[in-house]
Amino acid sequence: MATRTSNDLELVHLTKRYGQTVAVNDVSHIFPPASYICLLGPSGCGKSSTLRMIAGHETVSDGAILLDGADISHLPPARRGTAMMFQSYALFPHLSVKDNVAFSLKMKGVDKETRHARAMKLLDLVAMDHLADRLPAQLSGGQQQRVALARALVTEPRVLLLDEPLSALDPFLRIRMRAELKRLQRELGITFVHVTHGQDEALALADECVVMNNAVIEQAGPPRDVWSKPRTEFVARFMGGHNVIGWDGARYAIRADEVSIAAIGLPAAVTGVEYQGDRVAVTTKTEAGEEIVSLVPEDRFFAAPINPGETVHLGWDQGRMHRLEA
Ligand code: ADP
Repeated sequence: MATRTSNDLELVHLTKRYGQTVAVNDVSHIFPPASYICLLGPSGCGKSSTLRMIAGHETVSDGAILLDGADISHLPPARRGTAMMFQSYALFPHLSVKDNVAFSLKMKGVDKETRHARAMKLLDLVAMDHLADRLPAQLSGGQQQRVALARALVTEPRVLLLDEPLSALDPFLRIRMRAELKRLQRELGITFVHVTHGQDEALALADECVVMNNAVIEQAGPPRDVWSKPRTEFVARFMGGHNVIGWDGARYAIRADEVSIAAIGLPAAVTGVEYQGDRVAVTTKTEAGEEIVSLVPEDRFFAAPINPGETVHLGWDQGRMHRLEA
């Protein structure tokens, strides 16, 4: 049995059924304590159902959710030690920023002075204390996001649950907010479980990436392991940056940046050329009909540009091929 530290969030044979649909199928997993966890996978794979069951916004069909060894599966959301931050910030439009953040404390009967002091401390943490008296409508999207974060954190959760918290933001703000989330998680030293369908977001944020597919966890681990050592073809394709090729009756992954275009090698027809700034993605089709992408550093590409329709030769170090499970 694995060594237990406090703060462990654990899923034990967790299942969620909606009628005939099995959204989460017998999932068991121990999340590393006080870490930034990203749950990712394609739409419909069961991420939100998992998160909502942890939060208590969805009933558990089978199995259990443990926090610090105690079964929280049947507790009401407010008594679990978890808090959820929603994608749509759902702030109360008629309440000031400060009262929005203090709201759940008011419901718990905390006196006004204490709850306002606590709300101001959280607003300070998300750098929104100077706008405490504004109404939500007087804030930008990014500022509303921070208030929603403070509101979720005011209950001092052990686990903060975030359902695609950045998807409503423009790309520039999204990158800034994700750095903020990471900083907050580190400062607070609690577990964040963040659902995303963005691989880049997961790689940038996570201490642990949990990749789901078809209602189960397909692979979990540090982002670098999951990205560079995908266990299955699904993970290799979903995390991106890899080609999957057949070889000697097995399937292998080879990184696209390790496929080079050379004078000799596997002949392939160029089907697409995409400029990506620091590199150029050259998509090709081999005679066997396999699609192989080569990521060429931009200076190398432009020294001898290639066009769709041309035939090139592909090469890579066979020792760098990574065998995938069937
Ligand atoms: P994800 O968050 O990965 O997109 P979900 O957990 O939302 O996946 O959904 C997993 C599966 O469960 C999907 O097939 C979805 O259609 C189904 N599902 C989700 N919520 C409900 C619901 N309230 N009623 C019926 N089916 C649902």
